[in-house]
Amino acid sequence: MRDGVAGVTGRAGKVIGVQCVCRIMAHRKTHGSVVVDFWQRALAFPVTILTLSLLTWGAVGALPAALFFATMIALKLIGHLRQLARMEHWSMSPESGGVPEGRGAWEDFSGNLNKLMRKQREAREKHAAALQQIEQATAALPEGVVILDETDHIEWCNPLAERHFGLDGSRDISQQITYLARQPEFVQYLALSNYAEPLILRGTRQDEMVLSIKVVPYGVNKKLLISRDITHLERIETMRRDFVANVSHELRTPLTVVNGFVETLQDMPKLDNEMSRRALQLMGEQTKRMEGLVDDLLTLSRLENTLNTLVEEEVDVPVLLQSLYQDGQALSAGQHVLKLELNCTARLAGNGGELRSAFSNLLSNAIRYTPQGGEITVCWSVHENGAPTYSVKDSGIGIAPEHIPRLTERFYRVDRSRSRETGGTGLGLAIVKHIASRHQAHLGVVSEEGSGSTFSITFPAKRRL
Ligand code: ADP
Repeated sequence: MRDGVAGVTGRAGKVIGVQCVCRIMAHRKTHGSVVVDFWQRALAFPVTILTLSLLTWGAVGALPAALFFATMIALKLIGHLRQLARMEHWSMSPESGGVPEGRGAWEDFSGNLNKLMRKQREAREKHAAALQQIEQATAALPEGVVILDETDHIEWCNPLAERHFGLDGSRDISQQITYLARQPEFVQYLALSNYAEPLILRGTRQDEMVLSIKVVPYGVNKKLLISRDITHLERIETMRRDFVANVSHELRTPLTVVNGFVETLQDMPKLDNEMSRRALQLMGEQTKRMEGLVDDLLTLSRLENTLNTLVEEEVDVPVLLQSLYQDGQALSAGQHVLKLELNCTARLAGNGGELRSAFSNLLSNAIRYTPQGGEITVCWSVHENGAPTYSVKDSGIGIAPEHIPRLTERFYRVDRSRSRETGGTGLGLAIVKHIASRHQAHLGVVSEEGSGSTFSITFPAKRRL
């Protein structure tokens, strides 16, 4: 096997060797013929003049022959000098035009120089195109990239890095990056040269951007600084932390109450019936509250699960609203004037269970936040543009404008104690918003503090059946 390989290598080597010799000979041949051509052309004129001068000498004497020879040689010299001057003039700005054409010995030289210039131009254009492609690719990168030299001076940066560090690519090149991004932790990170872990840099600019920064050393002491905007991820992480804290807080209060009653009951050997009934009633209320909270949390998590796709069916909304209206009357217990306006008979393509949950959430909110004697109108209608709309209008306490954008945040309440008193979990509108978005619908709120609110869900016209 080794012999085989060696044999093949040997034969291949010979073939390559022969090819090389041929190429060198061909090169020498062409080079040799070029040299011969040059001397032929260069000497043709002096030899011709010399021959003519000798003939003149023989015919009319030495002086006219010498004069003729000297004149012709001087003219040739002037021609060469002129060509040289044109070449020098061209060499001062070679981009302005082609190599000046020459005759005789200059002909090949000008031609070759022209060819060389063309090749150089083509190579330059190719490099410029490659560079432009690299620039476009790095500009499209979803990360900021800065090239730093051994002393952390900026050699190049892409537009995203300009945005991340507030740099100006044309002005800040050659500046030390730590003069421009001065956060102490960033300066220290670069100085320590321990780049195993990325640096999380907060508040890099006024817009409170959070960056994840990584340094990759390469080449001879060069560094590639890669920055990624993780503001969004940080926000999600903060929301997750707040959510866990809020849930724990929400559960702790009823648990403390129930626990307190259990301990009291245990400590009191002789409990009269009235006391134990009262304690059990309060414990029941608190466990119901916890149950409601856990139910809402489970509903939210089910809605948020991306794998849980919407199962659609034909929902008879007027029938659904009739049933909700009955539930509403039971909840209101005759304390409000409840109206149901069915302005259309449109059915909806959607999930019956989810729609029931969203519609009843809005109705129960209207009942809970409307004082006794108030009026609540549930309405099902179709807009002029064909969009089916469910709305609940109440004459309740209303909401101040500054609270409206935050109402769908989990556990956001305008009046915490009122929400609790009426059995609210603070998750109702978050659930409604999720359900609306799963149906490509829009949740709208119009409210005036002290006068009442109208909550509406507007579905896309294509959902109307
Ligand atoms: P909660 O369980 O506290 O009612 P929601 O998410 O359903 O939670 O509502 C969030 C907050 O929005 C409520 O705490 C309340 O302050 C306000 N809100 C909701 N619906 C109404 C309404 N119809 N009138 C006045 N305020 C409302």
